[in-house]
Amino acid sequence: MKMLNKMTLSAASGLLLGCSPLAQAGSADSVVVLQYHHVSDSTPAVTSIDPETFREHLQYLQEHNFNVIDITDARDAIEKGEELPEKAVVITFDDGYQNVYENAVKVLEEFEMPYTVFVNPELLRKHSGHYMGWEELKEIQQNGATIANHGQTHAHLIRKQEGESDEEWQERMRYDVITAQEAIDENLGEQQKYFAYPYGEYNNELRALLDEWGFLAFAQHSGPWSKWSEDTVITRFPASGIYANLNTLKAKLNSKAMPVSAYQPEEPLVAHENKRPTISVTLEAGDTLNDMRTDALQCFAGGSVLKPEWESDTQFRVTLEKDINIGRSRVNCTAPSASESRYYWYSVALIRPNESGSWPD
Ligand SMILES: [Zn+2]
Repeated sequence: MKMLNKMTLSAASGLLLGCSPLAQAGSADSVVVLQYHHVSDSTPAVTSIDPETFREHLQYLQEHNFNVIDITDARDAIEKGEELPEKAVVITFDDGYQNVYENAVKVLEEFEMPYTVFVNPELLRKHSGHYMGWEELKEIQQNGATIANHGQTHAHLIRKQEGESDEEWQERMRYDVITAQEAIDENLGEQQKYFAYPYGEYNNELRALLDEWGFLAFAQHSGPWSKWSEDTVITRFPASGIYANLNTLKAKLNSKAMPVSAYQPEEPLVAHENKRPTISVTLEAGDTLNDMRTDALQCFAGGSVLKPEWESDTQFRVTLEKDINIGRSRVNCTAPSASESRYYWYSVALIRPNESGSWPD
């Protein structure tokens, strides 16, 4: 029934729109945000890309006509429902390492690609040399970079400290987020309010505070940024470590946003006992869903491929088949587009704590 609808719809819109292909109209409603940390061959492999591979990424983007755009241009277009350029990409760096200044900035300037650096003001003050200082940040900002907020201390923000009351926790969040923004604004002039969650960790309480304070907030699980994204859970594709491989990055650069309207679990942190959480996703009916090959939807978690169960035309769920590890993990779901060789992509973040409620960095 669903297949039939899909065929009828695309045939009908083909007629109505003459030669304008449906696929192209829909392909510019999302942007792929890349997330980097270190650009160096002597830093921890899992969060690093070596300078040569980084250059290859930019080369690839340029040669394949990707449009690397400014984060604020992306936000404005998505907020106003305006079309984004075809194949739009936003480049971000977390932590503001000195090696980004040394090994990435010149290459980005050579390719004339805008980028954003999320910084930790308290850390850069205490560890000069390891992180870019305000002088370097001011210089790259003047050359077009956006400098944004990654919290004062790079803490696990959603972890309450022992004996900490709700009010004390909120006070600590105010320090970590608000005073970090004040430090950025004092040093660089008033900036747009973008926040990248340290470790990509958030919960509903933290999201509510960021919303109240007027921030857009970026996570670390994957999927394109689109009108279906929530303002405080904007997804990014990690491009360091094993994810720096161009062969696997290509599919992500070409991915399209799944039209997700609701999902469970809403918060990444699950109970320690919840070893095999069930993910449930509700999709918005419409042209995008009609272009999604829902029959070929697959989800991936911890090395296994999971076949989702459809509960209705717009709702599926998937239960993990293996226990998830302690710490952060994600479930990625993809479905091919019916009209072009690209994939719709959606990811759910999970954090499973150990018995004492903690988990590794
Ligand atoms: Zn970080």
